[in-house]
Amino acid sequence: MHNEVKVLNPYHMAVQQFELAADKLNLSEDMREILRQPKRELTVNFPVRLDSGRIKTFTGYRVQHNVNRGPAKGGIRYSPEVTLDEVKALSMWMTWKCAVVGIPFGGAKGGVICDPKTMSPAELERLTRRYATEISIIIGPHGDIPAPDVNTNSQVMAWIMDTYSMHEGYSIPAVVTGKPLSIGGSEGRNDATATGVLFVTRQAAKRIGMPLQGARVSIQGYGNAGSIAARLFYNEGCKVVAVSDTRGGIYNESGLDPSTVLRHKQEQGTVVNFRHAQNIGVQDVLEVPCDILIPAATEGVITAANAHRIQARIVSEAANGPTTPEADEILFKKETVVVPDILANAGGVTVSYFEWVQDLQSFFWGVEEITQKLEVIMNRSFAAVAEKAEQCSCDMRLAANMLAIARVAEATQIRGIYP
Ligand code: NAD
Repeated sequence: MHNEVKVLNPYHMAVQQFELAADKLNLSEDMREILRQPKRELTVNFPVRLDSGRIKTFTGYRVQHNVNRGPAKGGIRYSPEVTLDEVKALSMWMTWKCAVVGIPFGGAKGGVICDPKTMSPAELERLTRRYATEISIIIGPHGDIPAPDVNTNSQVMAWIMDTYSMHEGYSIPAVVTGKPLSIGGSEGRNDATATGVLFVTRQAAKRIGMPLQGARVSIQGYGNAGSIAARLFYNEGCKVVAVSDTRGGIYNESGLDPSTVLRHKQEQGTVVNFRHAQNIGVQDVLEVPCDILIPAATEGVITAANAHRIQARIVSEAANGPTTPEADEILFKKETVVVPDILANAGGVTVSYFEWVQDLQSFFWGVEEITQKLEVIMNRSFAAVAEKAEQCSCDMRLAANMLAIARVAEATQIRGIYP
């Protein structure tokens, strides 16, 4: 049975975070009633022919949380651990994320319960095309625009774009973002999430007077967000002392070379057993001596059980939902600066927004322009959240949620209730 209930329910966590901010904002019960729940939840069960000739039925979801500020936007995740509640939580976080960086999108998320590591490329293509067809009744360039997330990439986006375009009879690149450059992708999109993490971490470090040069960085997860963050922080002069993936972690107090680790992972399928490091446990990567911790894997990994053992002064959340509300309290008391997910990893959706705009205009920008525009948005958003946190004497998550929820509530209020 793949779809076990996780110990921690991400949706309960998302609602708990929402209520905290709603309390602080004195949000009316009517508005809470609207914002607490996703607008639309689609569950699809669909058959896929495996290479063996057998048929297997897969379950997938697409959830749209709120679209009052613009079309729904959010990634698609392939994992045996996907649940409807996880997708609901991620869709809500997308709504707040787009609002906190001020881009005109609402929140959505998708997922398919599958184990891509055990599937061939042909099986993954058939699964993707059928899933895209099943959710095509609610996605579209003006309604809901998917993007990559855990275990999906630009190739998966290309299949979704092609499938959707085949149904319509002409190419519609703006239906997904995170596509390959050759079919309407954007310069800078692949590195965007990690680039955004770097921009906000620079600001956080500046505020506490910590030089990035020589700072020790530990990263959980070595995929799109984690491995690129490793490279960018290394290039910034940081010492990447530990990284991990699902199979375990590696540690070297003198620092790792991210590109050699990536080559090792590509050859061996894991970062474990890298010859210039000692193996450590999956969770140990969170607790090693370091200055900056970057969770870049999955939800609920920093909890009341381990938060007091975290040594980093800055936690920059590349992953969505890595820290539980109880752990937030512990870290706040320890004066650890937590740059929350909806701000820290918003670089991905921001460049996705640029990609969507470029696709709609069929007019493409250079990478310098993209990076410069991204930096402006990340720095401006960081400053607003940090100022709010100071004003309210609260952590940056609560401050970011307050800013975001107030913006979504305003849009919801001004549009009014239909009919
Ligand atoms: P990915 O599939 O490219 O990489 C995920 C990595 O995490 C892999 O190395 C995997 O081995 C590792 N991992 C998974 N579960 C783990 C666990 N329990 N312990 C340790 N390692 C584990 O995915 P990604 O796109 O890099 O996404 C990672 C996180 O970043 C997710 O929370 C995602 O929602 C978030 N995020 C991604 C983007 C993006 O643009 N890709 C944007 C914003 C946020």
